[in-house]
Amino acid sequence: MTQVALIKCSDYDDDLLIKVIKDGLGKIGFDFAQFKNARVGLKPNLLMAATPEKAVTTHPSFFKAVARIVIEQGGTPVLTECNGFGSLRSVMNSAGYAEVVKELGMEVGKMEEIASLRYPQAKLIKRIDISKAFFDVDMIINLPKLKTHGFTYMSGAVKNLFGTIPGLRKARMHLRFPEPNGFSEWLLDLNGALLNGFEKPKTIIHIMDAIVGQEGEGPGPSGTPKKIGAVIFGSDPVAVDFVAAGVAGLDYKKVPTIMLGFKRDFTVSSPEDISVIGQSIEDLRVKNFQPTKSSISSHILRGWLVGPTVKNIFIEKPWPSEEKCTLCYKCMSVCPAGAISQAQDSKKIPLYDYKKCIRCYCCIEFCPEAAISLKKGKLQWLLGF
Ligand code: SF4
Ligand code: SF4
Repeated sequence: MTQVALIKCSDYDDDLLIKVIKDGLGKIGFDFAQFKNARVGLKPNLLMAATPEKAVTTHPSFFKAVARIVIEQGGTPVLTECNGFGSLRSVMNSAGYAEVVKELGMEVGKMEEIASLRYPQAKLIKRIDISKAFFDVDMIINLPKLKTHGFTYMSGAVKNLFGTIPGLRKARMHLRFPEPNGFSEWLLDLNGALLNGFEKPKTIIHIMDAIVGQEGEGPGPSGTPKKIGAVIFGSDPVAVDFVAAGVAGLDYKKVPTIMLGFKRDFTVSSPEDISVIGQSIEDLRVKNFQPTKSSISSHILRGWLVGPTVKNIFIEKPWPSEEKCTLCYKCMSVCPAGAISQAQDSKKIPLYDYKKCIRCYCCIEFCPEAAISLKKGKLQWLLGF
C-alpha cells in the first residue's frame, strides 16, 4: 500500500502551515533527519507572473513554510524552478517569492544549464535533458498547485515536474507530443527518470497546495480560484494526483497522467493500492468544482483525428477576445507550433492559423489578460459534446 496524507488546512497562515506540513510529512513516514546538511530543491509551480490571489502559482506562504522547516532541521533549501514564461526574477516578484527568498536568505538555482537523465525503462524517451540545478541538490520537494488544465485535464504532482525543463525545451515537447495521451506518457517518463535516472537516487516528496486551487479554464489567468482547504502529501506522484482529483470531485479516469500512470512500474497500479491517511477524500471533497470545458471526447479524438479539417470541426480551438486582448503577443511567443502571428488589417487580436494549431492551449495558459477562451468545433455543437 502506498500512503498519501490528506490534511485539512483552511488558509495560508504561517504558523498553521508549519504545523500542517510537519503533520503531513510525519504521517507519510518522512524522516526529518534527511534534511540535516542536505541541499533540498523546492520545486513550486511558478507558471508565470501572477499574484498569489490568482491561484496560478503555489502560494508563497506555502513555499516559505516548507523552506523554514528545512532550515529548522539543518538543511539548505534551494528554489529550483524552470518557470513557464518571462524571467524567473519577474515571476518571483509578482508571485511573492522574492520577499520570501530575501527574508530567508535562500539560494535560487541557476536553471539554464542542462544535464541528462537516463531512464532505459522509459516508454518514449530514454534520455531526458533537465536543468542541472536538480543534479546539484540532494533531494527534491515538489510543491504543485491543484488546478484544472485544458490539455491534461488536471495539473498536479506529475505535471508540475515539467518545470524541471528549461524554457523553450518545454515548447518543443508540446510540439513533439501534440495530444494529451502522448504528452502524459512523456511526463510519466520524466517522473520515472527523476526517480531512477540520477546516478545516486534522490528522495522526491510531493506536497500539494490544494488550500486554494483553480477550477474552470486553468492553469493560467483564465482559471478561477477555488477554495479547497487541503494539503496532500506523498512520495508517489500518481497516488497524490489521484487523491487530489478525488478531493476536487474530478473523475480521475479523465486524467491521463493518472490512468497511464497506473500502468507504470514506479507507481501504484490502481486506486486499491492507495491508503489515504489523515482526513478522508469524502470529508474534504469540495462541492461544485468546475472542470475545464475542454472535453475529454475531444482529447480522445485528438489522438487519431489529426488532419486539419477534422481537427477544426471536432476539437475546441483557442479563441481570443477583441474586448480583452491588449495585443501583448505573449501568446505568439509561447506557441510551440508557430500558429499565431501579428494582427492583420484592423483586427485587434493576433491572427491564429488553426491548421497549424496543435491544441496544446499554452496560449490560454499564458495570456495575462485571460483573453482567450475555448470555442467548440462546428460538429461538437451539432453533436452536443
Ligand atoms: S490574446 Fe492574450 S496573450 Fe495574445 S496578444 Fe491578446 S492579450 Fe496578449
Ligand atoms: S495557437 Fe495556442 S493552442 Fe494552438 S498550438 Fe499555439 S499555443 Fe497551442
